[in-house]
Amino acid sequence: MARTATCRCGRLQLACEGEPVRVSVCHCLACQRRTGSAFGVQARFPRERVAFGEGPVSEYVRTADGGNRVTYRFCPPAAARSGTRSRTRRT
Ligand SMILES: [Zn+2]
Ligand SMILES: [Zn+2]
Repeated sequence: MARTATCRCGRLQLACEGEPVRVSVCHCLACQRRTGSAFGVQARFPRERVAFGEGPVSEYVRTADGGNRVTYRFCPPAAARSGTRSRTRRT
């Protein structure tokens, strides 16, 4: 099965082939900071089964508590967020 994903603006795209090797929910501090939520949800695929599109990409790399380097890819205009602002019409 093929799956595709895009960022909110649609410039950043990827495609995954086959089933994920792991699907997990995590509540570590890094996942909370990454998602702005109590939990981070992730589906993991082997690198060779993920095809990245041509969109503009920024990367953020951190070293996890276990020593692994983790690279986050994101769309510069749409994905970086330090808060969410919502404007609602007052009626
Ligand atoms: Zn985007
Ligand atoms: Zn985590």
